[in-house]
Amino acid sequence: MNIEVLFALILGLLVGSFLNVVIYRLPVMMENDWTQFSKEHLGLIQENDPQPEKFNLMTPPSRCGNCGSPVRPWQNMPIISWLILRGKCASCHTPISIRYPLVELLTGLLFALVAWQYGWSPITVWGCLFTAFVIALTFIDADTQYLPDQLTMPLIWLGFLFNWHTGFISLEQAMLGAVVGYMSLWILSNAYKLWRGVDGMGGGDFKLLAAVGAWTGLQNLAVIVLMAACVGIVAGLIKRVAKQQPMAFGPCLAIAGWIVFVWHDKVLYGVNWWLHKSGF
Ligand SMILES: [Zn+2]
Repeated sequence: MNIEVLFALILGLLVGSFLNVVIYRLPVMMENDWTQFSKEHLGLIQENDPQPEKFNLMTPPSRCGNCGSPVRPWQNMPIISWLILRGKCASCHTPISIRYPLVELLTGLLFALVAWQYGWSPITVWGCLFTAFVIALTFIDADTQYLPDQLTMPLIWLGFLFNWHTGFISLEQAMLGAVVGYMSLWILSNAYKLWRGVDGMGGGDFKLLAAVGAWTGLQNLAVIVLMAACVGIVAGLIKRVAKQQPMAFGPCLAIAGWIVFVWHDKVLYGVNWWLHKSGF
């Protein structure tokens, strides 16, 4: 194995551990903010109300959801700790979800894939950052149907910086990708709203497609949306069997965007081949 792939794998395991915190805490932080904002807006806050308990990505430190005992540093090692603890809290033996080590493993593997594809290069460093955002957004949207602005908006600006720094695609492609990505879903969603009178898609999806466009360019946008629709249909069929639930489109967009980012050249080659073959 190349040294950079191994390095990316280990970095990914550590970043995955942090992503678990983001995935769990960010939606709670958003809801706390909305509650606080609504109370202020409606004049429901008294002068001597107690300050809400501080809750962000750093405080309070991680602790068991059942007994509240703190997670010690040695219990915080990606995957290994979960295996040593056999998936149970050290104090009260409540099971710890297998999702935590799985998110760590997934992050490690995807970072390794990026490093394997792009080698020891700035694109790999940026690509790992993109991967981390995509994983956080995918799980948060699947859990809560939110795509937090705190993640989608920076991802748009980071996409421009990435292409400006590495020349992965031209800045023109990145700019058009972001604009067309946002506008196409915005128009589609508003047309649907006029027609059916209900929201078909969340505003977070527009921002996410804008971000994916900023990273991968206008040239890849159609393929990404098509791929996302396919992922959505497959996931929808599986879910429909399981239980009736609204589908989040965000994860499909994120996954399709990531695939196109990593296999950028092959996807473009495939599209050109298909267009040529179809006589366009
Ligand atoms: Zn416990």
